[in-house]
Amino acid sequence: MQTVEELIERKRDGREHTREEIDRIVLGYSADDIPDYQIAAWLMAAYLNGLSPDETVWLTDAMVRSGSVLDLGDIPGVKVDKHSTGGVADTTTLVLAPLVAACGVPVAKMSGRGLGHTGGTLDKLESIPGMRVELTPGQFVDQVRRIGIAVIAQSPDIDPADKKLYALRDVTATVPSIPLIVGSIISKKIAGGADAIVLDVKVGSGAFMKTEADARGLAGELTRVGRALGRDVVCLMSDMDQPLGMAVGNSLE
Ligand code: URA
Repeated sequence: MQTVEELIERKRDGREHTREEIDRIVLGYSADDIPDYQIAAWLMAAYLNGLSPDETVWLTDAMVRSGSVLDLGDIPGVKVDKHSTGGVADTTTLVLAPLVAACGVPVAKMSGRGLGHTGGTLDKLESIPGMRVELTPGQFVDQVRRIGIAVIAQSPDIDPADKKLYALRDVTATVPSIPLIVGSIISKKIAGGADAIVLDVKVGSGAFMKTEADARGLAGELTRVGRALGRDVVCLMSDMDQPLGMAVGNSLE
């Protein structure tokens, strides 16, 4: 079996991984069998040399399998989730999710924390005294069943690979990579149990994708990978050339 060093070397030299190799990297890291410094090197190699279409699907699938997948099958209706690729003063979820729930569509959403220069929905919610975003999977499903909506943090056993990779990307300058963003977003959405996913790809100076061409590339990949893994996915692109709200910062927003 190849060593982790050989796997890093393979990506450093721009070669394609097999599905088994991607599994070893993702599942080995989430199980704490591979240290941060080796995955940091692999992330940079993946950032610089990219991942192939197959590698991106395998990465996403391995991330889903790093933990458990929520089963929302008992809740009637099509369970939808929505995700933004990240913006400044982006509070869309806080407005949109209750609106959709009020129309009778169950919203079961796992949100993220701040990444790079973008604030996270969870950080904003947690600035409300008494607000809890850490629910167990059972409490999450129960709340969606009872009131039609839940916005929660990733629990440790749902997509643990994303939890670790997200934090490591944040401090290794490897965030704005299309395959890594696709793996992070789609794996979270699938592990959260959504049947249908609406993606809001931000484009502009305040987004990870600065140009329309890059944003279109990301939107195309998000849709392709989500559909390859059996979910209904639609993407829209929205302007991120100025802060989206009147104030910037989690408690001000
Ligand atoms: N949002 C995510 O959840 N992951 C990324 O990698 C970027 C934005």
